[in-house]
Amino acid sequence: MQLRLFTCEVLYSGMGIPRSPGAIVLSDELVVATGSPEELQQMYPQAVFAGHHKVIGPQVANAHTHLDLSTMPFMEKPYTAWIQEVIRFSRSGQRNLDAALQGLSEIAPKLGDIVTEESVMEFLLQQEGLQGVAYWEVIGLNPEHADKIFQDTTARLRKWRKMERPNGMKVGLSPHTPHTVSGKLMKLLAQFAQAEGFPMQIHVAEHPAELEFHTTGTGPLAESIEGFSGLKTREILGHDNGPTVVEHLDLLGVLQARPTLIHVVNVTESDIQRIAAAGCPVITCPRSNHALECGTFQWPVFARYGVEIGIGTDSKASGQTLNVLDEIRFAQELYGEEVPLRSLVRAAVKGNYRILGLQVPFLRRGEPVQNVHFWEF
Ligand SMILES: [Zn+2]
Repeated sequence: MQLRLFTCEVLYSGMGIPRSPGAIVLSDELVVATGSPEELQQMYPQAVFAGHHKVIGPQVANAHTHLDLSTMPFMEKPYTAWIQEVIRFSRSGQRNLDAALQGLSEIAPKLGDIVTEESVMEFLLQQEGLQGVAYWEVIGLNPEHADKIFQDTTARLRKWRKMERPNGMKVGLSPHTPHTVSGKLMKLLAQFAQAEGFPMQIHVAEHPAELEFHTTGTGPLAESIEGFSGLKTREILGHDNGPTVVEHLDLLGVLQARPTLIHVVNVTESDIQRIAAAGCPVITCPRSNHALECGTFQWPVFARYGVEIGIGTDSKASGQTLNVLDEIRFAQELYGEEVPLRSLVRAAVKGNYRILGLQVPFLRRGEPVQNVHFWEF
């Protein structure tokens, strides 16, 4: 039996801290050993050197995307202008199953997808080979509509839960953002999700205009939302302006439901402490944040407070591709020494798998070689 030795810049076995540099010895069918290159060269002198790779690890997962925007062109413009493009795209009827199927053909089969069409939800739940969570997106600015939307949402989620397959995608819930979902509805949804065990993702403090919307009730987002809805920011929030986006969610008791918070770029250190204390994981989408002029996710601060970090591409319309390895390459350029490649790799595997409620496949002696993935970027 011929053994092969591979070396790499980072080796992640799915357990503990990723090793740098790393190595792995494989037989034709199984993982024989993982360790440092020197260790494994000494232990397996008969193994043939078979190549050096950037990263060797389990298959990556993509914790946050919007498959139904996969046919919308990639655009770099400020968040508030980009959202208008999304609204136009949605109204044109193109945010549909065809767009989602296009996205599915380009993405790793372990994913967290934000779903806006019933046909997409039903397709994802029935599709063999996919794992992760399909989060049903809910929008509802007007607190007067909260009860009706809530009833409708709970009925849908309960119906879809019955369609889940044993090893397939699970149904989740995504109250879109704290500025597009009234405080009243947000609270109802979070209580429901917590009580019935539906995983949640919420877009939080993506762009500086959101923080302004919450704290002062002014700025481009507040103006545009007031313009089309006739609602003041405090009517949507259910309290006076002042609290940050994260403080607002905490006031409503939403953080207690431990939703996954997406983006969390425009947050203070005390917000990050609140997120850590509540035990909420977060997902960063560095390329999307860059394209929409949102600012930079404070990775080192979140890491210092021990927050579980995952990494997603967001949609192709703001992240350009659905490949998490592209995201990691961009994050390396963005953070340099501040965030080591080891941390990015761990986020793309353990962070993402945990957020999606999946078991991380281990690379250890006796595991099948199919679990071993060579990441090139
Ligand atoms: Zn998103």
